[in-house]
Amino acid sequence: MNILVINCGSSSLKFQLIDAQTEKLTAKGLCERIGINGSQITFSPAGGEKIVRQAPMADHKEAIQLVLDALTDEKTGVVKSLNEIGAVGHRIVHGGEKFAEATVITPEVKQAIRDCADLAPLHNPANLIGVDACEALMPGVPMVAVFDTAFHQTMPEEAYLYAIPYRYYETYKIRRYGFHGTSHDYVSHRAAEILGKPYEDLKIIVCHLGNGASISAVKNGRCVDTSMGMTPLEGLIMGTRSGDLDPAILEFIANKEEKSIGEIMTILNKESGVLGLSGGLSSDFRDLENGSVEGARALKAFVHRTAKYIGSYVAAMNGVDAICFTAGVGENSVNVRNAICSEHLGYLGITIDQEANQKRGEEIEISTPDSRTKVLVIPTNEELAIARQTYALVK
Ligand code: AMP
Repeated sequence: MNILVINCGSSSLKFQLIDAQTEKLTAKGLCERIGINGSQITFSPAGGEKIVRQAPMADHKEAIQLVLDALTDEKTGVVKSLNEIGAVGHRIVHGGEKFAEATVITPEVKQAIRDCADLAPLHNPANLIGVDACEALMPGVPMVAVFDTAFHQTMPEEAYLYAIPYRYYETYKIRRYGFHGTSHDYVSHRAAEILGKPYEDLKIIVCHLGNGASISAVKNGRCVDTSMGMTPLEGLIMGTRSGDLDPAILEFIANKEEKSIGEIMTILNKESGVLGLSGGLSSDFRDLENGSVEGARALKAFVHRTAKYIGSYVAAMNGVDAICFTAGVGENSVNVRNAICSEHLGYLGITIDQEANQKRGEEIEISTPDSRTKVLVIPTNEELAIARQTYALVK
């Protein structure tokens, strides 16, 4: 069965068609600048040439129509008709406390996703637009919602509560939810497979280090802590997000520069992280490794924060068997991985195999065989994880 995986943002839409039985990618692509001048669709059939085409897309429905046309195109398409698409898996950012796992989309589920929009105002409405567009164009095809937050719903109260008046949790559900759950789920399961041990017997730390970055502690098959909070702003230093900081800084900047909370939130989300720390040099880690003082300053802080989180999760789980690196930086930055492990994790009995650690973007163990704690690089595959969860619900 072919599963269409859709990741719908406010003006872009990524898609993959995956054969659920073989788990092979059939085609993938991207619609950009939806509803804006200059929109275009990129379509890459597996093993074929990438096709980039300028095409007007007034809204998401028009974008999805172009995706379906590309998939079924007589010459360059990959399926004969839409009947060959068995289900659609949608990435939904926030499932609040309502969804601890993926679910088939019904009118009630859509309402519940709408109810969570308060917690993810930029993402959930955009995700739902993608669901509506697919429903309109693919009547009768089951739609499944796979939530970024679901994997972290196993966190215990002591990990998800903020130390603010409890009524804020009761009234508004202000708590830590965590994100990148599909990735943490996929990578931690893959780690257990690589180690050849039951998932339920392991203590695993997953470092999802990309433009957005988060880290999670998975103990005996359950997520017990994660660094992102009620929103993706908390935790690690990211490309442009600050991660953890003293909340009093907001008032301080507001007073000094007569800025509104909204303006400060934009600074914390878009102008901070390694971009801010490097004095505006770049949010891209490749640019920070250019030998400049500014780049080095940002990288050092990023490594320091990440290593501190790893240490705190070792404490939260009272030990660790494996530490995994994934996402753009985790899969590719030899220097970041080496700095985190060699400068900070010797106490866990970790030695880095310098040759193995030269590899980028592939699944590999980068700790030496005698290391007490294993360090693995595991490329994440959120689309495959969404396709798997979708297939499991509709087959
Ligand atoms: P992601 O959000 O997972 O797609 O990760 C994107 C980020 O990965 C980029 O912004 C870069 O900072 C980082 N990245 C990609 N390739 C490399 C590389 N070869 N070395 C260091 N960082 C990289």
